[in-house]
Amino acid sequence: MPNKGDTLTKKEKQAYRKMLLEQKEKIVRKLSQFYNESKEVETDIAQDVVDKAESSYTKEFLLSLSDAEREQLPLLDAALRRLETAGFGLCQMCGKPIGKKRLNVLPWTPYCINCQQKKEEEVG
Ligand SMILES: [Zn+2]
Repeated sequence: MPNKGDTLTKKEKQAYRKMLLEQKEKIVRKLSQFYNESKEVETDIAQDVVDKAESSYTKEFLLSLSDAEREQLPLLDAALRRLETAGFGLCQMCGKPIGKKRLNVLPWTPYCINCQQKKEEEVG
C-alpha cells in the first residue's frame, strides 16, 4: 500500500517547514527579549519556558504573550516533528488529509476542519 496521505511534495514540505520555523522564531524572539533582561539566553529557550511554566515570573511573561501564541509553540514543535517523521498534513484525530488550503493558513494545525469544529463544540 502506498504511503497514503503523504501527498505533499518535498518542495511543499520545505515551504511548510519554513513557515513553521519563521512563526516559531517570531515567538521565540519575544521569549528571548524577556529572558535577556533576566538571564542568559538559551538556545532551546521555548522548551525551557514551558518547563518552568510554574514559576510566577514565567507565568507573568506568558501572560504577555497572546493566547494564540502560547498555544502555538507546542503545536509548532509537534508539526515540525511530524514533518521530520511522517504524518504532517494528516489530521491527528481522524487521519484524513487536512487540506492544503488550511495548511497554507495554519501549517501547525493538528486537525482537519471537521475535527477542529467538533473539538470546539465539545469545549463550548
Ligand atoms: Zn479530522
